[in-house]
Amino acid sequence: MPATAFLPLLPGQIIEGRPATLGVLGGGQLGRMFVRAAQALGFETVVLDPDPASPAGRSCHHFIQAAYEDAEALREMARLAHAITTEFENVPAASLRELARLRPVTPSADTVAIAQDRIREKACFAQCAAQSGVPPAPHAVIETEADLAAASGNLLPGVLKTARLGYDGKGQARVGTRQELADAWHGMGRRACVLEKRLPLAAECSVIVARGRDGQTVSLPVQRNLHRNGILAVSEIHEGNIPAPLAAQAQAATCRLAHELGYVGVLCVEYFVLEDGSLIVNEMAPRPHNSGHYSIDACDLSQFELQARALAGLPLSAPRQHSPAIMLNLLGDLWLDAAGQPRQPPWRQILALPGAHLHLYGKTEARPGRKMGHLTFTGPTPQAARANAQTAAALLGIEAF
Ligand code: ADP
Ligand code: MG
Repeated sequence: MPATAFLPLLPGQIIEGRPATLGVLGGGQLGRMFVRAAQALGFETVVLDPDPASPAGRSCHHFIQAAYEDAEALREMARLAHAITTEFENVPAASLRELARLRPVTPSADTVAIAQDRIREKACFAQCAAQSGVPPAPHAVIETEADLAAASGNLLPGVLKTARLGYDGKGQARVGTRQELADAWHGMGRRACVLEKRLPLAAECSVIVARGRDGQTVSLPVQRNLHRNGILAVSEIHEGNIPAPLAAQAQAATCRLAHELGYVGVLCVEYFVLEDGSLIVNEMAPRPHNSGHYSIDACDLSQFELQARALAGLPLSAPRQHSPAIMLNLLGDLWLDAAGQPRQPPWRQILALPGAHLHLYGKTEARPGRKMGHLTFTGPTPQAARANAQTAAALLGIEAF
């Protein structure tokens, strides 16, 4: 039987004696918000994650606690789930390939493998730039001492990024001189890296699209993102958050990329807006993205419902944002006082603010920089959402934005 035999999967449909079930590799907050959306549609859900206390593991119907390479656990996933997705790009592509022999898997292992590797990702962006008109930052691949010696001085000052396993600013070093570059690369264990020219950023933004097996593509509005210490801090989503022609260009480039990749599922692409007003493509995530969490509260179709629909082969309709929104990430720092002692953030005061939507992920241990939850403010106008978000930021001890 082909892996896709039961598509489209209809919510509540009985297949092989069980209700239609969607599976996700990874039990973090993205997995949790995915299973919630899948459950709301009427699907049963399975999560595979090595952590016994994973946020999604405690929100799903069936939890498989195992490593992502565990062959038996993958077979169990394929037995329970009629279609399978992933919540993060660092799941082994080999595990996705194995699952895809048995069940529909979106996005495909091949596209996830590109997003896992900055070298392949940059090459793909450079190739797409001919059609999209949006290039990646000037860069060079550094895999050997010879590459290091040959790297153009035009790329300095630059950012050295490991090709694999970097996130939230980890696996990156800012380098100003050749000596700093060499020290940083050696310090990273001479792993394969990309050296990017450091660019003068006026703003950062991201675009989330969902593409179905039939090629139908829908897009969320452009998110304007503020990062602090390499971690997303604030997303602002409302008309005029970035100039309209740039927003249109970023959306078109993202749809084009999804098309070129033959992508199926939810894809997020991050962009830089440079001081000269031009657009640069930075990186992609083959899954829902932190900058799209506002869509749960501010759109009539969230990025997680789009992920579930694309996976199940159901129609995607164009999401409509019904309210301007500002999202604040809630990092573990907010649960610690100046002396590093545990404290509770002032939720009563936060929830008294109009348009506050609190999402905590159920993580038991607060650590600095750890994503514990997010807070979305919706309002009748961008100004109203922003005013309440700024009040909340002040109450929580988040720097104003
Ligand atoms: P991560 O996987 O950690 O999100 P990114 O490549 O998105 O890695 O880099 C994290 C942040 O660092 C970006 O959002 C941006 O603020 C900054 N940054 C990354 N590359 C550059 C660059 N070439 N020029 C200027 N700033 C950069
Ligand atoms: Mg990034």
